[in-house]
Formats: sequence, structure tokens, C-alpha cells
Amino acid sequence: MKHEFDVIIVGGGHAGTEAAHASARMGARTCLITHRFDRIGEMSCNPAIGGLGKGHLVREIDALDGIMGRAADYAGIQFRLLNRRKGPAVQGPRAQADRKRYREFVQEVTKDQENLDVVEGEVVDLIVNANAVGGVSLASGATIKAPSVVLTTGTFLNGIIHVGDVSRPGGRVGDASASRLADRMRDLDLPLGRLKTGTPPRLNGKTINWELVGIQPGDDDPTLFSFLSGQPVAPQVSCGITFTNSQTHDIIEKNLNRSAMYGGHIDGVGPRYCPSIEDKVVRFRDKSAHQVFLEPESLSDDVIYPNGISTSLPVDVQQDYIATIPGLENAEILQPGYAIEYDFVDPRALSDDLQLRALPGLYLAGQINGTTGYEEAAAQGLVAGINAARRSRDQGKTVFSRQSSYIGVMINDLTTSGVTEPYRMFTSRAEFRLSLRADNADQRLTPLGEGIGCVGHARSRAFSAKMDGLERVRDQLDSLNTTPNEAEKFDIHLNKDGTRRSALDLLGHKDVTFEDLCRLWPELSDADPLAVAQLAKDARYAPYVERQRQEIEALKKDEGVIIPSDLDYASVSGLSVECQEKLEKARPATIADAGRIEGVSSSALAVILMKIRRGSVKIAG
Ligand code: FAD
Repeated sequence: MKHEFDVIIVGGGHAGTEAAHASARMGARTCLITHRFDRIGEMSCNPAIGGLGKGHLVREIDALDGIMGRAADYAGIQFRLLNRRKGPAVQGPRAQADRKRYREFVQEVTKDQENLDVVEGEVVDLIVNANAVGGVSLASGATIKAPSVVLTTGTFLNGIIHVGDVSRPGGRVGDASASRLADRMRDLDLPLGRLKTGTPPRLNGKTINWELVGIQPGDDDPTLFSFLSGQPVAPQVSCGITFTNSQTHDIIEKNLNRSAMYGGHIDGVGPRYCPSIEDKVVRFRDKSAHQVFLEPESLSDDVIYPNGISTSLPVDVQQDYIATIPGLENAEILQPGYAIEYDFVDPRALSDDLQLRALPGLYLAGQINGTTGYEEAAAQGLVAGINAARRSRDQGKTVFSRQSSYIGVMINDLTTSGVTEPYRMFTSRAEFRLSLRADNADQRLTPLGEGIGCVGHARSRAFSAKMDGLERVRDQLDSLNTTPNEAEKFDIHLNKDGTRRSALDLLGHKDVTFEDLCRLWPELSDADPLAVAQLAKDARYAPYVERQRQEIEALKKDEGVIIPSDLDYASVSGLSVECQEKLEKARPATIADAGRIEGVSSSALAVILMKIRRGSVKIAG
């Protein structure tokens, strides 16, 4: 069969645009089909990109020449590096984004991308030939053919929007759901489930009393996402912080039966880490206040996103409880909060290139696979786009490993453990997190991207220049060495073991700064400070990375170790609450069984093993 395109991408959200760009960069003739061009790059919920674990994903997407990092840098109106006081491995870049600028950037680069055509329309069916996908049919009756199709339909499959006890079909506010395609997915006998998520009401910033709320500025030295970006380009703003109180909680509690989540209107499971305000009031009864961040959605309008109070209560209740929050007494609701329930496909039906095992040529990426968040969606889109393009040329699949990337961690988690609730990335999910840092994503992944042809010339040149610079400074640092006695004269205190150490070794020493080295070797003062900072991080982490590798090797040998059947997981310090709850519920018999539970990482297994070995196992009850 002659194909019009090599790859079709269905859906122009975060997964779809990244998939379309990756496929087109690889040289595949790519068609992106989506409801509306002007909704491409839409942020359906919070106007922010990045955060802990998520920021790592954005850096990795960028390292592979994806668009999310550059879009977030263009749209960023406030940048903050989360966990700044902790080590670089768990720091997460985050940006408050101007929603309009974000869309504008994604739409512009989509128009300019070579090999990429955009078709506006609704996909209602898949063309299947000889048990492989061959294209799609549109609601207009048109058909478009290609040997690889990537579905990235987000929350649109059988989406139902809930506000209190009022429900109606919808993919997100302002968009119809994709019910015909959802019916087709059911016909294909795919393992489907239901999940839910929610969003807060949007407020009119002009009606907020800003004098009564705290102010949170961005960082003085912003950390951007893209390895190609320098400084923020949009004007920078502060966000507000206010708090709920007992009056707010009373109103919510009294009206729980009117909430879609609690009134029995929703069956799907919601995201544990983005709980609704109803959830917070019920689950954390001992807390007398919850933070509400007042985040501007754009520099060009007055819409405020009150982060922390997503809800599915009726509009009159939303209005009542908002009015109890300091600064929001007279706040006008521009768009009510709502919950959405939607179909997802059990990602265990996919192989590690995100291709559906039962239907060759069909790839799934994004929220359709049970994840939540723009970053998780975009990272999957990138992988599916790369692999769909490779398949159309009969090339083997490209698989990302847990050792090399957060992208690999996520895809391995999804395809082997599946999801019981919307999956969100955290640094704790990565057992190799000491080497998977946001700062070295390009060193880990850009060469791989160059090898498969998804990295363009501009990035390749910038990366080579950076690596040459690092090499030069590394050689210089390696060529200089000193003894502890010589170093002592410059106020650098080392173990008096007579060993000569290079400047590179000293840079990895936690008590030695680059300024110390410049006193000893003034010629180093001319070295590129960015290269020095990068080499210092690499040198400081090197011994820990090696220890981590050995621990993981050792863990593999311990898979048969039996876990006492009455182990009290709540008493095992070092396990997250999520892990404790899941282990408590599943009560695995062995370490291997524990490792198969969704969300139980190798580092969690190491903590359990240590507890068993110490023999200090506390018994539940
Ligand atoms: P989307 O961004 O939803 O994009 C799907 C695209 O597919 C759309 O462009 C749509 O037009 C197109 N499409 C769908 N069906 C068809 C079809 N049949 N034919 C053609 N085009 C089609 N994330 C968080 O991290 N935290 C949150 O608190 C959070 N809350 C959310 C609340 C709500 C109400 C919603 C809707 C989403 C929320 N999200 C949240 C999720 C975040 O928006 C998604 O994770 C992310 O947008 C998923 O990206 P995606 O590409 O998979 O899908």
C-alpha cells in the first residue's frame, strides 16, 4: 500500500507536538492531526513547567532537541530552582509560564518545522490492514494513510467534565471529547481503565487584594531549561501566597456530598500528588491551613491560577470558600474549577518503544497511558515520535534505559508495572538519580540523539563547543598537581598522606572551592566558569555514583530474600509514605515481589533490605 505520510500523530497537546517534531526532525514525512491549530501547545491546567523530577524530564527532552525546554524559556515569567539547598541530583528547575507565549512559541515552531504538515480535524477511526495499523479516518470522512500512527489524545477519550452534580462530555473546558475514537479503542479490545484529575477556578487578578497576600519572587540568577538558552526573555514577575483556614475547611466539609469527587459521580482514580481541596480537607484533618499560590497566567491578561485548590464542588460553594481566604474576599471567578474523568490504556500493553504489542505500528504517548503532567506527556511523545519514524524506515527501535535517563525510568515503570493512579515523575523513582542529574542531561543524551538523527545542526554545534570547552578545562585541571604540604601553604587542608592530587581531584573535594585552586594556580583564573562548575559537579558526584552502582548490583543478588510477613513498613525510615502504603497493602513475600510493585524503587528495596539485615524489624500492630 502506498502511504501519504510516514508517520501520523493524533493530538496536538504536549505529547503530540513533541512526537510530531521528533518524527519530522528524523526526516519522516509527518502529519499532525488535531482538533484546532490554535489550541496547539495549550496548557490545560497549571501555567508552569518543570519541578522535582519533571524538570529533569524537560532537560532530557531538550538534550534530544525537543521543543518543551525552549518553549518554557521563551514563556517563563518566573524561574525557581527547587531544592536549591540540596545537592544538584535532586534540584528541579521550574518556570511559571505565560500561557499565551507558550502556545505562541509551540505554534510558531510547528509552522516552521520541515517535514511536518498539520491537519485540523477529529480522528474517529483507525485503519487496520493485516493486523497492523495503516492510517486513520477523520470525522469529515477523509482518510490519511501511514505505516505508523501515534495516539496522544490526553484526557479526551470518553472525557466527562464534572462541576458538582452537573456532568457533561468534554475533553477539557471548551473542547468536545473524543467519544467515537474511544468506542473504536473499546472494539480493539484494549485494556482500558478510568482516571480523573481536576483543576481550580480561575480568578480575576484585579479583584484580589494583593496587600493581604505574601509575595514570592523568582530566583535572582534564573536557571533555564534549554542548554541553548541564556537569559529569560519575558519580563519577570512575582507570585502571591495565601492560605486556607478553618472557615474555608468548614464550608468544604459541609458540602462534601455536593462534590463530584465525594458525591459518588466519579469512579476514576485521581492523582495522589495533586489532590483536590476536598481531598486535602478530608485526608489532612489535623492541618488548619493549606497554601494557595496565586500564579499569573499571562502578562497580557489578569487571569490568576490559584494553585492548591483544585475542586469539583458546585460553583456557589467554590465562590463561598474562596471568599474566606485572605486577599480573595472579593475575588471574581472567571472560570469555575472542575474535575475530568477519562479513559486510559493500561501501559503494560505497550512495549518499551511505546508501541502497542497487539497492533504493530500503533504507538501511544501521554495522558492516554495513565500519566499526568505536561512533562511526562512530552517525554513519552518524544520517544513515540522517534520510534514511529524509525519503524517507517524499517529501523530497529530506540530504547531509553533506567541507567541513562528519567525518560527510561518512566517508560520502564509504565510498561512493566502499569499504573494504579495517574503517574507523575519524582526523583525518588530513579535508582541512578546521582548520575541522572538535570545539569548533565546533554552529556547523557545528546550523543544518542545525534546517533539516531533527531538532533539538529545548531544543537550539535553548541554541544560540540561545550564538550571541547569541558575537555580543555579538564586537561588543564588534570595537568596541575600538588602535595598536601604545598596545598597547606595556600590554606587548603588535605589528608597528610603524601599523595599528589590533581587540581581536578581537588575540585571534587567538598571543602575546596575553585577560588582556593586559583590561589594555588593563578593561571586557572581564566578558565570558563561554566565548565569549571560542571566539572566540579561531575567530580563531586563520581564516588557516590560508583557506590550507587555497586549497591544496585548487590541488590540484584538479594532478590530472593524473604520479607517478614508482619514487617511494619511505617517504621522503616527512608521509605516514602506512598511506598509504605503500597507495601503495607501488597505485603510482598520477597524482595523481588516488592520490586514489582508500582512506585517501589531500587532505593526503597535497599532500605528494606538494610532493615531486615539489621534484624531490627519492628512487627506491625
Ligand atoms: P493533551 O495536552 O490533553 O492534548 C491532547 C490533544 O489531543 C488535544 O490537542 C486534543 O485536541 C487532541 N485530540 C484528542 N482527541 C483527538 C482526536 N480524536 N482527533 C484529533 N485530535 C484529538 N497535570 C498536572 O501535572 N497536574 C495537574 O494538576 C493537572 N490537572 C489537570 C486538570 C485538567 C482539568 C486537565 C484537562 C488536565 C490536567 N493536567 C494536569 C494534565 C495535563 O494537562 C496533561 O497531563 C497534559 O496536557 C497531557 O498531555 P497530552 O499531550 O497527553 O494531552
